[in-house]
Formats: sequence, structure tokens, C-alpha cells
Amino acid sequence: MTSQTVVSVAALIELVAGVFTSRGMASNNARTMAKVIVAAERDGTLSHGLQRMRGYASSMDAGWVDPRAEVTLQRTADATILADAGNGFAQIVLERARDDLIAAARKNGVAVLGTRNSHHFAALWPDVEPFAEAGLIAITMVNTRPWMTAWDGAHRVLGTNPLAFACPRANGPPIVWDQASSTMSQGEVLRHARAGRAVSPGVGVDAKGRPCTDAATILDEGALLPFAGAKGSSIAFMVEILAAAFGGGHFGFEDASASIPGAVTSNTGQFLMVIDPGAGNGGFGARVEALLATILAGGADRLPGDRRYAKRREAERSGIAVTHEMLDEVRGCARVRCDGHS
Ligand code: NDP
Repeated sequence: MTSQTVVSVAALIELVAGVFTSRGMASNNARTMAKVIVAAERDGTLSHGLQRMRGYASSMDAGWVDPRAEVTLQRTADATILADAGNGFAQIVLERARDDLIAAARKNGVAVLGTRNSHHFAALWPDVEPFAEAGLIAITMVNTRPWMTAWDGAHRVLGTNPLAFACPRANGPPIVWDQASSTMSQGEVLRHARAGRAVSPGVGVDAKGRPCTDAATILDEGALLPFAGAKGSSIAFMVEILAAAFGGGHFGFEDASASIPGAVTSNTGQFLMVIDPGAGNGGFGARVEALLATILAGGADRLPGDRRYAKRREAERSGIAVTHEMLDEVRGCARVRCDGHS
């Protein structure tokens, strides 16, 4: 059993921000990145928390992603903003565009952000939850380098293309779900590989398209499988269209990261849509409550987001438990050049 220590959320944000500032990122942008990464660790989304720090550092050290990127925003229609992340991180675009998106959604009933030339290596729920906290509905999607088969294919052609949804409710914190299009996210398969654990059948295939439960083989030479077969493939396809074709970003298969030493993040795109429930049929919060009550009465013992919220409360009370190994790894990222780690 690996020994653990407890670190406060604030201390972890400072440590993670240092990995970005040590590579030339402005401190406000570094804090934006750190808050998202630490939020994932705090809420128990461990596939996209501290584990990813070597990947972020390596991508910057390889010159693949620009920590000093300049963001440009362009209003192309009343409710549409197109952004160029300048080969930087997508979260910095969203931080810049958030207030404009909220204002546009309140004015028009809906607003859309299409981001290109961006790297998104984090959980998606931090992107949508703040909109729901502001009383809006939000949905976002990101495409990634190919990791996954599609429909009846045997080789990796589509990204694990995650999507996340958040909506406000009358009597509680927002309902938020966030999921990859693959049966298991690549980050979770990586956690299994690092721990030397097998994954369940149905998660991936080997280089010949045969069922495989060895996490390292799936990552090194095989492919992940979409969730629910053709249905997950179709979702991943839609994500490519909205996240890349709409905003002008690369499709996953056009991303060059896999052929560049040290490049771990994908240069792709993100789609985000915000809807004002006030422009709808009325009584939105009460309608959401009615649906949730019915679902819970049907035997569901929890709602999406409940696990994260419980983890968050615990972390805010007592700090975040992190292994010494992981903490040393992140500290190392702030000190030394990093080289290739997915
Ligand atoms: P999970 O399978 O862990 O969870 C998917 C969703 O289902 C969550 O919202 C979860 O809520 C909810 N859920 C799970 N079990 C239940 C249940 N019993 N009842 C109700 N709701 C439930 O997520 P994935 O492994 O698919 O994805 C993990 C992360 O990886 C995501 O944050 C995703 O954004 C990220 N990712 C990022 C990529 C990128 O390129 N940036 C690429 C692919 C994935 P809860 O959180 O409360 O458990």
C-alpha cells in the first residue's frame, strides 16, 4: 500500500500552478489551469487530476503546446463566439469567454463557443458546472487524438471524445455528468497500467483487434472500445463534428501529437453551448426536481455528481489525500524537464 499525505486544496493549487509558471505561463493563466486540475483531484476524478501533470509538463517542454499562447475571440453571430487558443490550453479560452457567453445566453436564449487550436487534457465537468451555478444549462464536448475504434472497426480512429452536461435544479447543487465516449477513459486505463492492474473485458482490444484486458497493451499498441458499441461510436462521431468541424479545429486523426516525442496533449477543439432556461417553457427548476424525484423513486441510489460532491465536501473539510509518490512527481515537474508520459 502506497503511503499518503494530506494536502490542502490551496497548497495543491499553488504547487500545480508552479509547474506552469516555471515554463513561462502568466500566473493568472497558471492558476486557471491549476484550479481545474486540483478540482479533479479534490472531487476524485483521479484520471484527470495530478496524474496528468507529467503529460502537461512534457507537452510544454517538447514545444508542442505554448504556455504563453495568446487567445483570440471573434463574435461571428449574435450568439456565436469562435476562439483560437493559439496552441494553448482550452481552459484559458473558457476563462476569457465565460462572461461574454453568459451575457449572450441571457440575451439570445442560447450561446455557443467553438474553440480551435486548443489542448484539453482535463476533466470536462469544471467547464460546465459554473454555468449551472449561474442558473444556465451547459453542454460541452472535446475531441482527442485517436484512441478508440468506431462502429465495427478494429483499430483506433476516433478520440475518447468526452462530453459533459450541467443543469441547475431548484433544491440542490447542479446536476452534472461528464463521460468519455469510450467504455473507460484513457486516463483510467493509464491508472490501471501504472498500477499493473488488468481492465475489465470490453474496455479494449490488442493490435489485432482481439479482446484484451492488459491495460499497457491496449495503450501501447491496441485500441479502446466505445461504450455501448455503435451508440458510443455515434456519440464520438458527433463530438468530432461539433468540437472540430464547427470551430475549425483538427479532427483527432489530424492531430500530430502521437508522432512528436514528448507531445502528450492533443491539438484539437472544443464545443460549448449555454442555454438560458428562462427562454424555455417556464418552471424549469421545479420540472427538474419532478424528474429527479421520479428517478430516485425508481430505485437509483444516487445522481450523477453526488459522488464528486461528497468527495469535495470531505476534501474541503480535511484536505486532499495524495500519495507521496504522486506529490514527488508533481514537485519534480516544477523542477525538471519532463519527457513523454501519456
Ligand atoms: P465515469 O465513468 O467515471 O463517470 C461518468 C459519469 O457517470 C459521471 O458523471 C458519474 O458521476 C456518473 N455516474 C457513474 N456512476 C453513476 C451511478 N451509479 N449513478 C449515477 N451517476 C453515475 O467517467 P469516465 O471514465 O467516462 O470519464 C472520466 C473523466 O475523463 C471525465 O471527467 C472526462 O471529462 C475525462 N476525459 C477527458 C478527456 C480529455 O481529452 N480532456 C478525454 C476523455 C475523458 P460521478 O462523477 O458523481 O461519479
